[in-house]
Amino acid sequence: MVRFMNVSKSYGELTVLDQLNLDVEPGEMMTIIGPSGSGKTTVLRMLMTLETINKGVIYVDGEPLTHMVKNGVLVPANKVHFRRMRAKIGMCFQHFNLFPHMTALQNCMEGPVQVLGLTKESARQRAEELLEMVGMSDKRDHHPSRLSGGQQQRVAIARALAMRPKVMLFDEVTSALDPEVINEVTGVIRKLVGEHHLTMMMVTHQMGFARDISDRVCFFYGGKIEEQGAPTDLFGSPKKQRTKQFLSAVK
Ligand code: ATP
Repeated sequence: MVRFMNVSKSYGELTVLDQLNLDVEPGEMMTIIGPSGSGKTTVLRMLMTLETINKGVIYVDGEPLTHMVKNGVLVPANKVHFRRMRAKIGMCFQHFNLFPHMTALQNCMEGPVQVLGLTKESARQRAEELLEMVGMSDKRDHHPSRLSGGQQQRVAIARALAMRPKVMLFDEVTSALDPEVINEVTGVIRKLVGEHHLTMMMVTHQMGFARDISDRVCFFYGGKIEEQGAPTDLFGSPKKQRTKQFLSAVK
């Protein structure tokens, strides 16, 4: 579903991703862990087309993300292609970025009406189902300022899902939350893994959560995958020295 082929990214002298090769299978929950600055967020930002690619190609759902095939060769994509590819991906960030002047329900209806062209009625129906799924039905008419961080993050997840993405990205979605509400949000992600079988990629510093929920965990170091595997293997018996050091430091 997602494929990074020899993808490199630098800022000036700083190489952030170094010929990265990464495949994420349909329905897989893949988690990226690693030290600060190892390039984890950059991977997600590239998929959101928020960063340019210096080298290599990213494929999503079988098509190049930022290129088009013309006469058998890859050429930079036009706006229409970008918009179509961008719609395949949903993302939730550390800071929820809900529209402050809209209620929870309106936040979840806006994209489907404006971008997908759904009627208000069908957007409302879908938004209500998703708010129910994230346990926010009773607060659907509240504005974000009246919601706790955990509640806002749950609405942000519902809003991203309302766009029917093929791939969902979660970037440190619990790190701005108070400890007592983290479970509200991890519970929703667990539910998505258990019931919805979406393709998901997550960056987290919560090792327990990564271990519980992921099909595969990739340990990033210096813009490359240093080690990857099933969570029981990677956390239980890491093979590389850097993985061992990282895991013992974050325990
Ligand atoms: P953290 O766990 O701290 O969030 P990370 O592994 O997600 O780190 P990235 O956010 O991907 O790391 O950043 C990788 C490196 O790229 C860092 O050294 C960061 O300072 C640098 N970087 C990221 N964005 C930019 C930018 N726009 N301009 C210059 N350098 C950047």
